[in-house]
Amino acid sequence: MRLVMKFGGTSVSGGARIKNAAAIVWQHAQQGHAIVTATSAMSGVTDTLIRSARRAAEGDSATYFAALERLTEQHLAALDEVVDDEATREILQKQIARLLDDCGNLCRSIHVLGEVTPRALDAVASLGERLILPILAQALRERGANVEAIEASELIVTDDNFTQASPLMDETRAKTRARLMPLLQNGTLPVITGFLGATRNNVVTTLGRGGSDYTGTIIGNALDADEVWIWTDVNGVMTADPRIVSSAETLAEISYGEAAELSYFGAKVIHPKTIAPAAERDTPIRILNTFEPGHPGTRIVRAPKLNGRTAKAITVIRKLAQITIEGRGMQGVPGVAARVFTTVAREAINVLMISQSSSEQNICFVVEATDAARAIDALEKEFELDRMRGNIDRIWAQAQIAILAVVGAGMKGSPGIAAKVFGALGMHGINIISIAQGSSEYNLSLVVDEQNADAALRAIHSQMVK
Ligand code: ADP
Ligand code: ASP
Ligand code: MG
Repeated sequence: MRLVMKFGGTSVSGGARIKNAAAIVWQHAQQGHAIVTATSAMSGVTDTLIRSARRAAEGDSATYFAALERLTEQHLAALDEVVDDEATREILQKQIARLLDDCGNLCRSIHVLGEVTPRALDAVASLGERLILPILAQALRERGANVEAIEASELIVTDDNFTQASPLMDETRAKTRARLMPLLQNGTLPVITGFLGATRNNVVTTLGRGGSDYTGTIIGNALDADEVWIWTDVNGVMTADPRIVSSAETLAEISYGEAAELSYFGAKVIHPKTIAPAAERDTPIRILNTFEPGHPGTRIVRAPKLNGRTAKAITVIRKLAQITIEGRGMQGVPGVAARVFTTVAREAINVLMISQSSSEQNICFVVEATDAARAIDALEKEFELDRMRGNIDRIWAQAQIAILAVVGAGMKGSPGIAAKVFGALGMHGINIISIAQGSSEYNLSLVVDEQNADAALRAIHSQMVK
């Protein structure tokens, strides 16, 4: 089979984990599979880099100095564990030192300018993957593999929407195939950086936080891979985040639609954009655990085997605010909903959930907390006249709320789901602020106070999912 294997941050954090990742790739390569390996930065490294750049822009150089020291230590220690040969180690040490020099120079420029553009942020943020690439590649070589380490700026062509770039698939396909197919054909194992790409003019971009999963399926799509395997630190996609719900269980198979919905509504285990490039070519995705590589994990496919449950998993997104537009005269105002959402869209604010009471006396929608003030300002302006006429009484935000999403194919057609949710939360005395049924056929979303989110998650999980 032709496979793309992506390793997440915890699966490559430190020499021992890197060796483990290399062992996994090598084991499957020896079974005759042609494998492209994509790697994330070590956990926490991307956060450190982004914080360094932002602080530098605010006039603080101590943060990036300290970060450079820590990153040097961290990567050289991993290198020491991975490589025995002195001469090889020296070559790789120099490569790592050059990248960290680049990082220092970038942060110094940002500090001098006193501002960080999205383009500069990507140049810094992408260094985590670039730093680990030579170490993982060497770990595989140490096993006896022929390896080529490649930065994905050579493969993935993106638009110039820095920090959230999208791949231009035709160009990406052509470049990726030209570069990787000959290697795969002669038994070489390409190891590539996750998370980053480059514009047509070769300026480095990133695909959004957590975007290495997306790298996996972009490359899988470009190469017509048989499967994309995402190696992480849990046994696949589970019925809930196992960090919050200890009794969460692995879902053996879910559909592309369900996986997209789960990741969109907060299941961090897959980046939301990851599904589309795989679904387009019907490529199965597997989610596997590097800490328990024998576990079958989850398969994400077009038509999963039924597991007998309508509600399969539950997720949570925090740090949200609910905006409400209310007024007894709202029925008389034409096109309120259209005007509300046009106004919010004009501000480029993402709306996560919408609900309207049947009396049409209010419209509620949920946005990220950081967008709430901007949404209200824009709406106040848009509805100024209607407010003066008394048709709209109030536009307000309720902060510190969370959306819970119960996800599973077939929920829309199945009666009583909402009643069960109300029942489960009622038993625990948790108030539901609003609810949206069938925002897609896979999903029932409800809004609760953020402080009740974990308790609500556990209550619904124990009543409905398990
Ligand atoms: P990686 O570094 O491998 O990309 P992430 O930290 O991005 O890993 O994603 C894995 C984490 O996602 C898990 O450790 C888990 O806490 C979290 N998670 C959230 N929801 C789920 C879920 N439904 N199933 C599995 N893991 C989940
Ligand atoms: N290292 C990047 C991040 O932390 C990408 C990834 O891990 O998927 O966002
Ligand atoms: Mg991730």
